[in-house]
Amino acid sequence: AFDRTPLIAGNWKMNMDHAEGVALVQKLAWTLDDANFDYDRVEVAVFPPSTDLRSVQTLVNGDKLKLEYGAQDLSDQDSGAYTGDISGAFLKKLECTYVLVGHSERRTIHQEDDELCSKKVDAAYRHGLTPILCVGEGLEERKAGNHVGFTLEQLRGSLKGLSASNAKTLVVAYEPVWAIGTGEVAGPEDAQEMSAAIRAELENLYDAETASAIRILYGGSVKAANAAATLAEKDVDGVLVGGASLKAEEFANIARFE
Ligand code: PEP
Repeated sequence: AFDRTPLIAGNWKMNMDHAEGVALVQKLAWTLDDANFDYDRVEVAVFPPSTDLRSVQTLVNGDKLKLEYGAQDLSDQDSGAYTGDISGAFLKKLECTYVLVGHSERRTIHQEDDELCSKKVDAAYRHGLTPILCVGEGLEERKAGNHVGFTLEQLRGSLKGLSASNAKTLVVAYEPVWAIGTGEVAGPEDAQEMSAAIRAELENLYDAETASAIRILYGGSVKAANAAATLAEKDVDGVLVGGASLKAEEFANIARFE
């Protein structure tokens, strides 16, 4: 049930050393090639630590791999006195396709708020990168039954000022914080409920055509064993995978979800 090309995205977080990262990309590509994977039907992207992006670029270009890749974060600024930050301009030179924005670990550990996320979304588009905007409620909001209201407010705040023409290529990842790295997976119906609510809100913010073009991913303890059921939901257009993306075969099996 896919009107949109599914995107299977692997967020390595701060894991894998350089050699392990290169080996993981190679093994992932080999595993998918062995299975005659159809990259035109399903997009597969990896998000290594920024220090590994150059090697991934070299590998992808040298071996003509059909994998996409992106960064886990970017600065809202283009250049200047921002020690430790990474500009979208640098990521574009590394030929990144995507960049994660507002992952819950950035929001929590680095106090990134919706306002900053909206600036990062702008910065991504300024440099020709496609942002994957992460939103999602914590356990408290879920228990209080306010998960939809909370998540939609994050969405509106993080997209402030984004034009409809840019929004068409946006990717949104719904990641309930209580399901990230916990082994606790939101049920397919929970993922569908939120994805439909996000799409309806995108239609309010933009228009029906834009809302139907935007891909909405689910993230939170996705594994090969549970990916297919979530991906079968009408408004779920892919998955953002943390832990299970560090194992080539497991991640390849998620990508081969049918
Ligand atoms: C994530 O980091 O985006 C994530 C969903 O992690 P995990 O799959 O490990 O829960």
